[in-house]
Amino acid sequence: MTEPAIQDPVVVLGAGLAAVSFTGGLRAGGFAGDIQVVGDEAELPYDRPPLSKEYQREGAADKIRLDLSRARDVEWLRGTPASKIDTRRRQVQLADGRCLGWGTLVFATGATPRRLPALQQAPMPVITLRTLDDARRIRTALAPGVRLVVIGGGVIGLELAATARGLGATVTVIEALGRLMSRCASTTLAAVVARSHVEQGVDLRLGRQVTGFAGSALTLDDGARVGADLVVVGIGVIANDEVARDADIACDDGIFVDRLGRTTCPGVYAIGDVTRQRNPVSGRFERIETWSNAQNQGLAVARTLLDPTAAPYADTPWYWSDQYDLRIQVAGVSQGDDEIVRGDAAPGAKFSLIQLHRGRTVGVTCMNNVREFSTLKRLLGDAPLPHRAALADPATDLRKLLAAPKG
Ligand SMILES: Cc1cc2nc3c(=O)[nH]c(=O)nc-3n(C[C@H](O)[C@H](O)[C@H](O)COP(=O)(O)OP(=O)(O)OC[C@H]3O[C@@H](n4cnc5c(N)ncnc54)[C@H](O)[C@@H]3O)c2cc1C
Repeated sequence: MTEPAIQDPVVVLGAGLAAVSFTGGLRAGGFAGDIQVVGDEAELPYDRPPLSKEYQREGAADKIRLDLSRARDVEWLRGTPASKIDTRRRQVQLADGRCLGWGTLVFATGATPRRLPALQQAPMPVITLRTLDDARRIRTALAPGVRLVVIGGGVIGLELAATARGLGATVTVIEALGRLMSRCASTTLAAVVARSHVEQGVDLRLGRQVTGFAGSALTLDDGARVGADLVVVGIGVIANDEVARDADIACDDGIFVDRLGRTTCPGVYAIGDVTRQRNPVSGRFERIETWSNAQNQGLAVARTLLDPTAAPYADTPWYWSDQYDLRIQVAGVSQGDDEIVRGDAAPGAKFSLIQLHRGRTVGVTCMNNVREFSTLKRLLGDAPLPHRAALADPATDLRKLLAAPKG
C-alpha cells in the first residue's frame, strides 16, 4: 500500500477558514502529529461572510468565531506573519524572529484587497473589507444619514451597500464597468440585482471611475462629485502568495496547485483563496474565492494527505450572496452563450437561470430558490441538456423531471 504523503510536523500559514477546515480534517482523519498554524491577525479564526452582513447589523464578534473543536491540539500562533521559507531546510521564518521546522507545509494565506491610490490622502475614512478590524471600522462609521460610497459593484461591495441601506445610510455605488458583478453573475442576474439596489434607493453609477477627491466629495471621470462621509473600496483582491513566490514556487496571482493541493515544491501544499487551481467546469486555472472552496478544498487535501486512495478535490465551484431579501446562489460558470430563464427574472421574484456554452450546461443560478439549487447543480456537465422547454417552465417539478428518462 502507498504510504500517506503527510510528514510530521505540519505547519500551516494563515489562520482563516481553509486552515481551520484542513486542521480539523487532519485530526478527524486520525493524524496525531504536531500541527502549528501561523496567523498574521491577532484574532482567533473567524468567518468572513458575516462581515458585510450580520456583523454590520449586530456587531457580535463572538457569533462569527469559527468552531475549533475539531481542530484539537493545534497550536495557533497569532499576530505574526510568516515572512520567508527555506524549502531546502524545510524551515519557515516568522516576522517576530521565530523559526519553525516543517515536515509538511500548507499555504492558507488567503488574499488582500486591492487599494485605490487616488484616495490615499482623502479626508474621509477609505476602508477595504476583508478583516474583522476592517468590519469594525466600517461599523463604527455607519449610521443613519451617513453618506457611504462603495467603489466597485462586486459581491462584497453590494452586500455592504444593501446592509448599509438597511441601517439608514445614504448609499452610492460606483462601478467602472457597464454592469454589476461582472466576474461572477450573468447579465440577467446582474440586471435584476442592479434594479433591486435602485429600488432600495441606492444611487448606482455604472461605467464611471473615481478620479480623486475634492474636499469631502469624490470626483468621477464624468466631472460629477459625490459627497462621502465613508468610502468602502471593493475592487477585488490579490492572492497572498509572495512568500511562496520568493521561494520559487510557481505562482501567478495565486499558488498553482493540482487536485491534491500540491504546489510545485515537494512537501508544500496550498488551499483556499490563495490557490490557482483548475476549475472543473471551465477547465481553466482560476482563483476560486468562495467559502465552500476554502472549506472543502481544505478538507479534501487533509483527506488525500492521510489516504493516497481518497478522492482528489473536484468540487463544482459555487457561492451565495445575501443582499436585502435576495438570496443568490451561483454554481459553475456564471455566463454562457445561451441561457434558460426559469421563472420571472425580476427584483423580489423567485427564479433560476441555466447557463449553456456550446450546448453544454456550465452554470446555474438561483434567486430566492434555495430548494432548487442542488437539483439544478446536477445538470452541470457534458451530457446534452434534457427537457429544455420543461426546464424553462417554473411549474415543472424539477425532481420528477430529472428523475424521468431523458427525451
Ligand atoms: C466580507 C466578505 C464577505 C464574504 N461573503 C461570502 C459569501 O457570502 N459567500 C461566499 O461563498 N464567500 C464569501 N466570502 C469569501 C470567503 O469568506 C473566502 O473565500 C474565505 O474566507 C477564504 O478563506 P481562506 O482561509 O482561504 O482565506 P482567509 O479567510 O483570507 O484567511 C487567510 C489568513 O491568512 C493570513 N495571512 C496572509 N498572509 C500571511 C502570512 N504571510 N503569514 C501568516 N498569515 C497570513 C490572512 O491575514 C488571513 O487571516 C466573503 C469574503 C469577505 C471578505
